[in-house]
Amino acid sequence: MLPAPHGGALVNRVVPEREKVKILMEAEKYPALYVDTDTLLDIENIATGVFSPLKGFMTEEELSSVAHRMILPNGDVWSIPILLQVKEKDSLRKLGIGERVVIKDSSNRIKAIVDVKDIYRIDIKKIAKLVWGTDSDEHPGVNIFYSKGEWALGGDVWLLERVESPFKQWVLEPAETRKVFEYRGWKTITGFQTRNAPHKAHEYLQRIALEMTDGLFINPVLGWKKSDDFDSHTVLRAYEYLIDNYYPRQRVLLSGLSTSMRYAGPREAVFHAIVRKNFGCTHFMIGRDHAGVGNFYDPYEAHRIFDKLPSDIGIEIVKVTAVFYCHLCEAMASDKSCGHDDHQRVYVSMTKIRDMLRKGLTPPREMIREDVAQLLMKGFVASEVDI
Ligand SMILES: [Zn+2]
Repeated sequence: MLPAPHGGALVNRVVPEREKVKILMEAEKYPALYVDTDTLLDIENIATGVFSPLKGFMTEEELSSVAHRMILPNGDVWSIPILLQVKEKDSLRKLGIGERVVIKDSSNRIKAIVDVKDIYRIDIKKIAKLVWGTDSDEHPGVNIFYSKGEWALGGDVWLLERVESPFKQWVLEPAETRKVFEYRGWKTITGFQTRNAPHKAHEYLQRIALEMTDGLFINPVLGWKKSDDFDSHTVLRAYEYLIDNYYPRQRVLLSGLSTSMRYAGPREAVFHAIVRKNFGCTHFMIGRDHAGVGNFYDPYEAHRIFDKLPSDIGIEIVKVTAVFYCHLCEAMASDKSCGHDDHQRVYVSMTKIRDMLRKGLTPPREMIREDVAQLLMKGFVASEVDI
């Protein structure tokens, strides 16, 4: 009933509990590699099928195919490199093709196993140009990519232990979201990506999704840190409040997605769509400047890229334009529905909302609901106390 996951089946590379002891006992024999949290999250997302059909970190052949043609060697569309990057060639010295490596976190805990298929040097400038459209290290995504090192290890993963996360109760895996969609009887589902607290423009788009499909899947990216945003707990609580008090609860599912932002604009839009297909969505909404950063991408390139893909990705893209409040229409609207000029329009500005909340002022109701703003203000106070 629901669309098949990308590549046909959900990947499951989570080691069963009973096998874990055996593997941990053997682990001493294998060389160890220490990785950062972003990489651990990639492993978890591969292992639980969020990144289906990937079974592991990309080999050189896979990376080259994805970077040049946005397709995996098996023919499935894929737009973003998923790499196990290493800074020092030395740390790969003891490793060989066909061998097993244990993956450890910074506190020396064994988190996963990688069966090595490839060890290679990345042509990082070339890959950056192909994927991000620039090799400038002023681009935050490129900067992170460079900082992770130019050596890579390709190979399939087995997950032993998930990343400690304060958001556990809010995160469902694709096998679980698919079950929820099925028992709720949804045949069509719109996936909604966000990194921010719910404001009126996003609410307008979510209502369009609720008019259009059986269910709405709100899937905020968690742990995304940028000084001018609200922390993930505040975002999730604000969404829970909105759903409980304004939306038909049975038609909405809220679940967080723990993955790093790649800031790759159009290519990341494709990646986000594939991920939501794996969760079981039939539709995915893409707005203005999806996953963009600064002025690196044309705001609507993230729409056009879907017309240039090498093959169909099996999820319908709902392309939406900038949304605003129009004083003459007396409603939220877009260029598609409002005939008035910019003087009549109020665009949501999270910077303005944040600044007003910091001063204890109520932001304009054209931008955000007063009760939601109150919640965000509490979140602010909490996070400042924490610091
Ligand atoms: Zn208007």
